[in-house]
Amino acid sequence: MTGNNNINLYGIYGEHRVESCPLNNLNIAQQILKSVKGFAPEKLLETYGIHRVVGQYHSALEHTLTWILEAEDAHLIQQFCIDAPLSKFNQIKIVPLITFEDVATNIKRIHSIN
Ligand SMILES: [Zn+2]
Repeated sequence: MTGNNNINLYGIYGEHRVESCPLNNLNIAQQILKSVKGFAPEKLLETYGIHRVVGQYHSALEHTLTWILEAEDAHLIQQFCIDAPLSKFNQIKIVPLITFEDVATNIKRIHSIN
């Protein structure tokens, strides 16, 4: 967690078929490159409540992606995935995340460890 109650960590996990990969499919590649130009940081914040893109990682040959965001609302992230248009060629999971530091804090609290 980031300390601000309205901003939390989320992971976007995507997976697509080889035929739908932007590396193999010109139509999808063009859509992705076009959409990237429209997502300035100000728009991500104003439209989707995304405060920071922490990381964007892809496994080219497994055809998977993991993006980490600091954001306000999972439903707005869902809308971002539709508009991006990540969801057009990926099955998407949007998952609330915590840091390892948060895990350690929870462990101590749950088990009353100092
Ligand atoms: Zn791919």
